[in-house]
Amino acid sequence: LHEEIFRSEKLNTLGEMAASIAHEVRNPLTVVKGFLQLMQADDKKGQHTYLPLVLSELDRAESIISDYLNFAKPQLEKLETFELGGFLRDVVQLLNPLALKKGIVLSCQTDAAITLETDRNQLRQAIVNLIKNAIEATPEEGSVIVSMKSFGPEAEIKIADTGTGMTKEQLAKLGSLYYTTKETGTGLGTMVSLGIIDAMGGKTVYSSQPGKGTVVKICLQAKAYS
Ligand code: ADP
Ligand code: MG
Repeated sequence: LHEEIFRSEKLNTLGEMAASIAHEVRNPLTVVKGFLQLMQADDKKGQHTYLPLVLSELDRAESIISDYLNFAKPQLEKLETFELGGFLRDVVQLLNPLALKKGIVLSCQTDAAITLETDRNQLRQAIVNLIKNAIEATPEEGSVIVSMKSFGPEAEIKIADTGTGMTKEQLAKLGSLYYTTKETGTGLGTMVSLGIIDAMGGKTVYSSQPGKGTVVKICLQAKAYS
């Protein structure tokens, strides 16, 4: 028993460290990126042919931070009671620029009234990663719809995209460490999301059709519902 307590305390500290490192490292990265972009703009003779590579590696470092460390704390330590609809609308608003840039409609349907009690930051990290994947899989003029429903005490969050979809083989690999089909993917996002939802006692179900799209359903225990 003593060992258990010790271990979870250690994990907490590690998680807090990860979150603060992510925060601290992001600032100098942004500064370096800014100067490199200036250098690239000044490079009229095209002498610095390696600059695009350097910049894309910086982008990769940024992706790792946001997929993995952004709000990451391995324990569900800060339980909050909040309304799911407002929470989802905030997340969608956060990701709207990304969707707009790709020419995709990202929308949110939050008619039901559902209250959750869980670690809100963790849930945000989980949902952000899943919506990002939906946006990244969807071609121009496609859509990503985030919605919610309650089935008695169960709250269901649904993220439906009209993207590339996945084969059975791809679905089987989804969520394993470093599995990615993207040129600059981290292969961390889904694993982190599934881990968080699992830690919340929730369930994640994927259904996907190649060429048609993917639906991710997340079931969580509701605190109150109507
Ligand atoms: P990354 O996004 O960095 O590639 P993830 O763990 O988030 O890593 O996703 C792993 C892989 O799963 C992606 O590269 C993609 O091939 C596939 N994937 C995840 N979500 C979707 C989706 N909604 N539609 C199609 N493919 C997806
Ligand atoms: Mg991802």
